[in-house]
Amino acid sequence: GQKVVLITGCSSGIGLRIAVMLAKDEKKRYHVIATMRDLKRKDKLVQAAGDTYGKMLTLQTLDVCSDESVKQCISSIKDRRVDVLINNAGIGLVGPVESISMDEMKKVFETNFFGVVRMIKEVMPDMKKRRGGHILVISSVMGLQGVVFNDVYSASKFAMEGFCESLAVQLLKFNVTMSMIEPGPVHTEFEAKMVEDVSKKEYPGADPDTVHYFKNVYLPSSIDIFEALGQTPDHIAGCTKKVIESSRPRFRNMTNPLYTPIVALKHADETGGLSVHAFYNLLFNFGPLMHVTMNMIKCLTCGCLRSPTISPT
Ligand code: NAD
Repeated sequence: GQKVVLITGCSSGIGLRIAVMLAKDEKKRYHVIATMRDLKRKDKLVQAAGDTYGKMLTLQTLDVCSDESVKQCISSIKDRRVDVLINNAGIGLVGPVESISMDEMKKVFETNFFGVVRMIKEVMPDMKKRRGGHILVISSVMGLQGVVFNDVYSASKFAMEGFCESLAVQLLKFNVTMSMIEPGPVHTEFEAKMVEDVSKKEYPGADPDTVHYFKNVYLPSSIDIFEALGQTPDHIAGCTKKVIESSRPRFRNMTNPLYTPIVALKHADETGGLSVHAFYNLLFNFGPLMHVTMNMIKCLTCGCLRSPTISPT
C-alpha cells in the first residue's frame, strides 16, 4: 500500500523539494502530507507540485512550536497513520554569543530541538503500536561538528543528534527506524536569511575585535564555502528519498563528501585538539586563501573522492 509521509516546514527550501519529489514518485508509493505554519505561503509548493496537488500531496497547517497545532494536525489524519515522519522545519542563527539574547537562543532550541521532540512524542506511540514506521530528521553537519559563530544553532542540532541516537535503540525493538540526514551548506532561503540578517544587525554587547572577526573574517569565508560547496535542495531531497527507500536505512547520512574528513578529525583525536586547531587555522591563518582552497575542494568533490556519503542516484 501507499505510505503516508508527513513533512514539516514545506513552504520553502529542502522541505518543499522533498514533498514534491515524493509526491511525483513514478510508482506513486507516497501520500504526502506537506505541512507549514502558515498556509498563506503555500503558492510555491502548490505550483511545484503541479497535478500531484490534491492527489498525491495534500496540505495541512502545522507549527512545530505549538502543542495544540501538532495535536490537531496528527488527529486530523485518518487513523492517525503516519508511516514516515520527516522533521525538516528549522531556523538558523549566527553571530557572536555576547550579542544574542537568551530569548533568541531559546527560540532556536524551541524550533530545532523541542519542535522535533514534540513531533516525535505525538507520532511515535502509534508507530510503536503498529510495530512499524520511519522517523527522519534533517539535522546538519553542524550537528556533528561545532562551527565558529554558529554556537547556538550547532548546539540545537547536537541536542537533536543526542536525543535521536538515544531513542533509536529503543525504537529498533518496535521495528521503528530512525535516520538523520546531515547536509553541509545548501542553497535555500536559510543562507539568504543569514546574510540579510547580518547586514541589518548591530551586534551590541560584542567587543569590536569579535565583531571584526565575525563580519570580516568568518562571514566572507562562509559565503565562499556556500558558493563552492553548496548543494541544491533537490540534491538533499534525493538523498532523503534514497534513505526512505533503503531496505536497511543507516542512522547517519551525510550528503556532502567534503565533510566526512572534517567530522573524522574528532574521531582521529578524541581530546578534540585536532578539530579545534584545524578550524582555528582554517579561519585565522588560512582565511585569505579560502577562495582558492574552496575551488580546489570543489574539484575534489566532483566524484573522484571516495567517501561513505550518500548521493541521490
Ligand atoms: P528554509 O528556511 O528554506 O526552510 C525551513 C522551513 O522551516 C521554512 O519553510 C520555515 O517556514 C519552516 N519553519 C520554521 N519554523 C517553523 C515552525 N515553528 N513550524 C513549522 N515550520 C517552521 O531553510 P532550509 O535550508 O530548507 O532548512 C530546512 C532544514 O535543513 C532545517 O532544519 C535546517 O536546519 C537544515 N539545514 C539547512 C542547511 C542549509 O545550509 N540551508 C544545512 C544543513 C541543514
